Amino acid sequence: MEIASAFKRRGLLYVLSSPSGAGKSTIARKLLDSDDGIALSVSATTRPIRPGEVDGRDYHFVSDDRFQAMVDEGAFLEWAHVFGHRYGTLKGEVLKTIERGRDVLLDIDWQGTQQLKQVDPDIVRVFILPPSMEELERRLRTRGTDSDEVIARRMERAAAEISHWAEYDYVLINNNADKCCELALNILKAERLKAGRRVFLHDFVRQLIG
Ligand code: 5GP
Repeated sequence: MEIASAFKRRGLLYVLSSPSGAGKSTIARKLLDSDDGIALSVSATTRPIRPGEVDGRDYHFVSDDRFQAMVDEGAFLEWAHVFGHRYGTLKGEVLKTIERGRDVLLDIDWQGTQQLKQVDPDIVRVFILPPSMEELERRLRTRGTDSDEVIARRMERAAAEISHWAEYDYVLINNNADKCCELALNILKAERLKAGRRVFLHDFVRQLIG
C-alpha cells in the first residue's frame, strides 16, 4: 500500500463565525492564502453587491425569486435570514470539494452553523470574538461601506451573534489578525490529523504491525 493513500481522507467543513467587523474575512483570506488544501464555499445571497465585491468570488448574488427556486430545488446545505437578506451554502459545490479530499471554509452565521451541524455532525466550528464592542464599531465604521443605520443594526445583531459563542468548538479573540490567523491555521492542521477522520489509517497500521 502506498503511504500517500494512508493520508487520504474526506475533506472537512471548517466553519468561521463572528459578528461582522470582528475580522473574520481577513482571517478567512489569510487562511486560504496560506493553505492550498482548503477552499472557500461561495454562498448565494439576495443582498445587493457592495463596491469592490465580485459576483461569483465573494457571493453568488441572486434575486429573491432565484433564491426561492434554489431553496425549492434543495440546492442548499443550510440557509438563513441575516440582516433582512437570505444567505445560503451551496450543497453541490461543497460536497464535490470534500469528496475530492479538499477542506471547505464556510463563513456563515450561527443559524447556518446549527443547521450544518445537523446535516453533518463532523464539522469544525470556530468563533471569532472582537477584542471589545468599541473596537467592533470602529472596524465597522472604517470599512465605510454601510450607512449609520446599517451599522446600528449590525451592532445590535453583533450582540445576538456573540451570545452563541459557546456552541462552537473553538473560540478566538481577534486582538491581532496575524496571530488569530495562525491559531485558526493550527486548529485546521490539528483537526486534519484526528484519527477518526483518516479512515485509511486502518489499512496503513495493519500493514505496519500486521
Ligand atoms: P455580509 O453581508 O457582511 O457579507 O455577511 C453577513 C453575515 O452573513 C455574515 O455573518 C456571514 O457569516 C453570514 N453569511 C454569509 N454567507 C452565509 C451563508 O451561506 N449562510 C449563512 N447562514 N450565513 C451566511
